[in-house]
Amino acid sequence: MKACIKRGANQIGGSAVELTASSGERLIIDLGLPLDAEENNANLLPDIKGLKNKTDDLLGILISHPHQDHYGLGLHIDNSIPVYMSQATADIMDVCVKHNLPNAFAFGNIHIFDDKTSFSIGPFTITPYLVDHSAYGAYAFLIEADGKRLFYSGDFRAHGRKGKLFDGFIKNPPKDIDVLMMEGSCLGREQSTKYPSEASLEAEFEKVFKKTKSVAFIQSSSQNIDRIVTIYRAAKKSGRTLVISGYTGHILMVLNNEHLPSLKWPDIKKFATDSTAPHNITKEMIEQNPSKYVIMFGGLIFNILKSSSLVNENASFIYSMWDGYKELYQERLDLMKEKNVPMYDIHTSGHADIPTLQKFALAINPKRIVPIHTFFPKQFKEVFDNVELHDDKEVFKI
Ligand SMILES: [Zn+2]
Ligand SMILES: [Zn+2]
Repeated sequence: MKACIKRGANQIGGSAVELTASSGERLIIDLGLPLDAEENNANLLPDIKGLKNKTDDLLGILISHPHQDHYGLGLHIDNSIPVYMSQATADIMDVCVKHNLPNAFAFGNIHIFDDKTSFSIGPFTITPYLVDHSAYGAYAFLIEADGKRLFYSGDFRAHGRKGKLFDGFIKNPPKDIDVLMMEGSCLGREQSTKYPSEASLEAEFEKVFKKTKSVAFIQSSSQNIDRIVTIYRAAKKSGRTLVISGYTGHILMVLNNEHLPSLKWPDIKKFATDSTAPHNITKEMIEQNPSKYVIMFGGLIFNILKSSSLVNENASFIYSMWDGYKELYQERLDLMKEKNVPMYDIHTSGHADIPTLQKFALAINPKRIVPIHTFFPKQFKEVFDNVELHDDKEVFKI
């Protein structure tokens, strides 16, 4: 089996890997939109034969998880190409289409895989491993072909709400791995830093909610399910009801997990302009008792509330996303500043810190480690043994 990182050897996001078996048949892992792309343009497609017009030797594409930097360029491919993903990835992509989100699309030929259930695509045998990540339904892949074994980590961490998956994984890792292709988003940052856990964030949120005299606003991602659970739990502990957008409620609903917050629960409401449904709540209802609510912003919620009296110095605002997205929410941040709303940054990474990556690599004990999804591939050599660097478009043997 041969591998080629088409994009991602020297950057976070835009990942795409091509695997070629001795038969000449090929499998692609991820087809991400680069994070720095100004628009989702077909010109960004990596040079992979058969993407625009399927060829017989292109067997399919594996999508590790529902983040645009892993599937976004799928918008431009031949609809007949089989695309393999988790049910959660398919469901989240579908909700994005229904809510007309920018760059939303559906793949034409979807196949669903399950955790630890091996399946074959031509000469390739794939075993998906559910991992802890800021995206729901995120997977790593063991891929076997021609007697060789590649492990693709995808994006992962151990400090989220599903940290137990990591503990279980390192106790019983896949064996005899020839190449571990591992993400290194955290490389280049402070090496010994351990990232705060979602559980510790919950305590920080709770503290802010409790000291806030009026409404508490939050800017977070509707698709970061771990964070929504964290916010919900902190709101509940502070005696507040969580108010979410219809889009966030829809995502939670389709994931069909009874442990996730739901609009069927009494302490979660959907922001609306009418109170016809029992789970709806309006601006006027919130204004009657603002200290009873945590409001997670969506576009509509912000547009309706921005001119309301709720935005004042007795409220609070928590920014709970990656710093790099702040420019997308500049209007919200500016308004909070202008109205003297106390502002807080409470966030933790969706990616593993270095101590976690080291535990992961040690457990798998691969013959070679190939960096991907990192701006600092060379730094892998300072932290791990048996590192082999491969630039974008370089073909190498597994
Ligand atoms: Zn990523
Ligand atoms: Zn991701």
